[in-house]
Amino acid sequence: MKYIRRKFLKLIGLSYLSAVLLPYNLLYSATKKIFNKDLSGEQKNIMFNEYTERPYSSPLNHEKRKGFFHCANCGAKLFASNTKFDSGTGWPSFTKSFPGAFKTKIDYSFGVKRTEYHCANCGVHHGHVFDDGPGETKKRFCSNGLCLIFKPQN
Ligand SMILES: [Zn+2]
Repeated sequence: MKYIRRKFLKLIGLSYLSAVLLPYNLLYSATKKIFNKDLSGEQKNIMFNEYTERPYSSPLNHEKRKGFFHCANCGAKLFASNTKFDSGTGWPSFTKSFPGAFKTKIDYSFGVKRTEYHCANCGVHHGHVFDDGPGETKKRFCSNGLCLIFKPQN
C-alpha cells in the first residue's frame, strides 16, 4: 500500500512537472520546420507530436547494409550503420550518433522520466535515448524508423 501511494505521488509530481514545462515544450515545438513536403501523416505525428511508431513495424529493423541513416525531414546525417544493433525492442537502435546530430530534452510524458532526442538541424522528434546500450557508449538510441532514411554506401 505504501509502495502504491509512493508511486501515485511520484506520478502526480511528474504530471505537475510536465505542466510546468509545457510552455518550454511549446516553445520547442515552434522551432520545428517541415523541409520534406512528402511526409506522411504518421511521420508528422511522430516528428511533430512525439508519437511512437508500432514496434516491429519499421523495415529498417532488418537493414544490415553499410551506409548512413539520415533525418527523413531535413536529410541531416544522423547514424552510421556500424553503430546499429539489434536491441530486441522492435525499433531500430543505435549506440552512437554523429557528433552534434541531436539535441535532447527531458520528457515526463506517461509519468516516466525519459530523455527525448530530436534533430539538431530541423528540430523534429526522433526517439528516446537510454543508458542501457551495449559497447563503449552504453547508450541506446531507440529510434522511430519512420524518422529515418537509409542511404546505402557504394
Ligand atoms: Zn532533421
